[in-house]
Amino acid sequence: MELSPNVAALQPSATIAVSTLARTLRSEGRDILDLSAGEPDFPTPAWICDAAVRGIREGMTRYTPAPGLPALRAAVAAGARAGGAHPEWAIESDAVVVSSGAKQALFNACFSLFGPDDEVIIATPYWTSYPEIVGLARASSVFVAGPEENGFRLTPAELDAVATDRTRGLILCSPSNPSGAVYSHEGLRAIAKWARERNVVLISDEIYRWIHFGDEEQAPGLLSLAPDEVGPFVVIDGVSKSCAMTGWRIGWSITEPALAKKLGALQSHTTSNAATPSQAAALAALTDAERTRGEIRSMVTAFRRRRDLVVARVREWLPHLSFIEPQGAFYLFLRVDGEYRDGVTDSTAWCSHVLEETGVAMVPGAAFGDDRYVRLSYATSDDILEEAIRRLAEDRAPLT
Ligand code: PMP
Ligand code: GLU
Repeated sequence: MELSPNVAALQPSATIAVSTLARTLRSEGRDILDLSAGEPDFPTPAWICDAAVRGIREGMTRYTPAPGLPALRAAVAAGARAGGAHPEWAIESDAVVVSSGAKQALFNACFSLFGPDDEVIIATPYWTSYPEIVGLARASSVFVAGPEENGFRLTPAELDAVATDRTRGLILCSPSNPSGAVYSHEGLRAIAKWARERNVVLISDEIYRWIHFGDEEQAPGLLSLAPDEVGPFVVIDGVSKSCAMTGWRIGWSITEPALAKKLGALQSHTTSNAATPSQAAALAALTDAERTRGEIRSMVTAFRRRRDLVVARVREWLPHLSFIEPQGAFYLFLRVDGEYRDGVTDSTAWCSHVLEETGVAMVPGAAFGDDRYVRLSYATSDDILEEAIRRLAEDRAPLT
């Protein structure tokens, strides 16, 4: 059947594909150590699950308004104000649209803002879905990376080099999936200023904001800047990563109310509201903010310990491989192109070889726009991490 140009070039999500393959191989009896998963390995806190069950029993089983339960939108706005936003922001419910995951929030934003002839700059390495989502809006992605030694973080100089009069948007992710790099307030301010001066919409994906290993509890976010430092913007966030709620599918966008209205209208014709029981769960998480903070703290403590473990073991056992030192999220971006040889000449072949030889599943850097690297997720137990890196080290002989 002939396909519409809407989807002609669309590829399935590589991150989801690798995790699915790892699960399939394991179900076939293979000894798989899965470092591909892009989700916390912790269960959703029980009291958040209980809130959803209570909600269902109390009748939260019907449609809500398309942009979300009024109480949840208000809680998101309050959370943004309390979560390090500059005091001059007046974020209210009408700035918030609750969606079926941060992924849908990104889709709504790109589809509403960009179209044919528009260029969207994507900070590279990027999360695998950004270019596909930009492509679904029939806009073009323009990829640009900052200096590798600076964790690929961008500065206005790199943006100047790729901007054209067709540049409409810029997608940034901090803490970054896949590199774990985090922009400082100053770094973010410089990017925001650059975008504001050119009327470029800055889409700031802050889904990993709470998973931060720096001094501040949350990584710097766009709303921590003063409103007059920020031009047109969309902040993307949600409970998937911070509250270990990936399966509940609750994310949101925060933007100016006029655009939020359009995002809600788009959603009203596609998926309507995010699942109502899931909204009940997210509402509990945001309402009991102190309790949630405690949950996040204990998860971040584990992620930090694992980050330290992975960094130490890679340095010790794989000293010839360099990596970006993660400051947030739960990924290590490992540079492996020094090992490319006959038959193993790119990140996809490298990951397939390693999966075959060692059972360790990782995602090729090609999925994130940098074929020299692979992504390892440390959202798994210390034992699995240690064993996986040991197997990688023992497998070096065939490659080196
Ligand atoms: N942005 C980034 C950077 C991500 O890693 C993910 C992971 N799935 C998402 C957005 C989407 O989040 P969600 O599961 O809430 O759709
Ligand atoms: N974002 C996660 C990842 O990068 C989950 C999978 C996905 O949604 O792509 O692995």
